Amino acid sequence: MYRRVAIIGGGAAAATVISELLDRPSAHTLRVDWYTGTGGKLARGVAYGTASDRHLLNVRAASMSLFTGKPRGFLDFAQRNDSSIKGTDFLPRRMYGDYLEAEVMRVLEQAKVAGHDIQIIPFDVDGIVPEPTGVTVMQGDESRHADAAILAIGSLPPQPLSGIDDAVLASGKYIVDPWKFLADVVPDDTPRTVVVVGMGLTAADVMLELGAQWPNARFIAMSRHGHLPEAHAASPSAPLDDGGELFESMRDAPDMRTWMRLVRETVEGSSDWRTIVDGLRPHLPDLWQTLSHTERARFMRHVRWAWERVRHRMPPQVASTLDTFEREGRLRRCKGHMQAVHLAQGKLQLDIVPYHDPILAESLQADLVIQTVGLNTDIRRTDHGLIRQLETNGHVIADPFGMGLHAEPDGRVYHKDGLWPHFFAIGSMLRGTLWETTAIPEIRQQARSLAERLLAE
Ligand SMILES: Cc1cc2nc3c(=O)[nH]c(=O)nc-3n(C[C@H](O)[C@H](O)[C@H](O)COP(=O)(O)OP(=O)(O)OC[C@H]3O[C@@H](n4cnc5c(N)ncnc54)[C@H](O)[C@@H]3O)c2cc1C
Repeated sequence: MYRRVAIIGGGAAAATVISELLDRPSAHTLRVDWYTGTGGKLARGVAYGTASDRHLLNVRAASMSLFTGKPRGFLDFAQRNDSSIKGTDFLPRRMYGDYLEAEVMRVLEQAKVAGHDIQIIPFDVDGIVPEPTGVTVMQGDESRHADAAILAIGSLPPQPLSGIDDAVLASGKYIVDPWKFLADVVPDDTPRTVVVVGMGLTAADVMLELGAQWPNARFIAMSRHGHLPEAHAASPSAPLDDGGELFESMRDAPDMRTWMRLVRETVEGSSDWRTIVDGLRPHLPDLWQTLSHTERARFMRHVRWAWERVRHRMPPQVASTLDTFEREGRLRRCKGHMQAVHLAQGKLQLDIVPYHDPILAESLQADLVIQTVGLNTDIRRTDHGLIRQLETNGHVIADPFGMGLHAEPDGRVYHKDGLWPHFFAIGSMLRGTLWETTAIPEIRQQARSLAERLLAE
């Protein structure tokens, strides 16, 4: 059993691990050093730190419990305040943040009564030195030893795309971090053209929020394929049966061409394709393990965008608002690639490569450009201080696709010469290893397994 554990990160993944660790009986007292990061709201992180009730969970309330063992956790919490809430609702992420905070406070209180020693250190960790027998964590002038450390730092700060002039970045008209930007937006009726680069769920949230706060803004959303994410059905169907033939067949034939054929055939025989996607999702980390490097590369090249579009779906009310924007001419979707951005007479001038898009010109003017190109988990291209320290010293290495840390499916992290026995990661940093690993349903499974492992004799 590990008696001294360091948890690095103050978001939902760290909150889930600490709750799993402290919410179960332990034969010994634990010392947990919880480094929650500088600034930020405890347990909420980027996703659940939003103050806007327009930002909704993209998972139904009934599936958002923090604990695998208490599946109604979040729903019960929400219904205590409003009994009309249903398990199928898509609730505000702010409310989920309230739930996370309440759960964490409860387990911390319980841990105090049980005599555990929990240190909350509200700063960024500067360095970690994993060793064969434990881990040393450095923060400021202090260093503390632990038997094990869990890296729960979420994804890395977004980086500007290539081709953006320094003057553009300094102008404040090109937004690299949409969440920081949205936190400070105030109502304004100035007419303006906003280009949103990328068309995932973050783009949807950005347009929803700005569309409400800036009634005269019009949006041009651009991506390689020109599609917004699919929408959830108004009423859900049950996911495909777990023991279904599809998973067996996919496990037996781990190549993309066969997988695509199998999925297509199953979808053709079903009344709602969403049930296939939702049924596949919990199996993906296991299925991902069966793929060779070449097949994973094939997935990244040909299948990834389509999977993300059907897997990360918009709540129906979000889809309906964006649909209205489109019908009213406030939103135009384009297929193209933004190559460069310059400043020209106070506006942003975008150089575009249109992809078979008759409407999209080769250059475009905008008042504001917002980059929403998905999570950054590439440790080779980041100025995140701790990751730089770990990588420079060879304590961690990048996974071959630049999607996070090279790690085992159980979260143990590789260094340049092998595997650390007591240094683990959870959440987004495991994307290359597990593929599906960024959302609460996956994170809570990982947290449970980690807690069980750390507490095992
Ligand atoms: C906008 C958005 C909406 C989402 N919506 C949903 C949803 O509806 N449903 C769902 O299941 N999932 C959703 N997700 C997925 C989401 O990523 C996870 O649910 C979860 O929030 C991830 O939490 P995390 O703790 O891994 O990362 P984060 O929340 O990013 O937290 C990372 C933490 O690490 C800290 N940190 C970073 N560096 C250091 C350091 N050096 N030292 C100490 N601390 C450090 C940061 O300060 C932060 O506290 C959403 C994600 C986003 C971005």
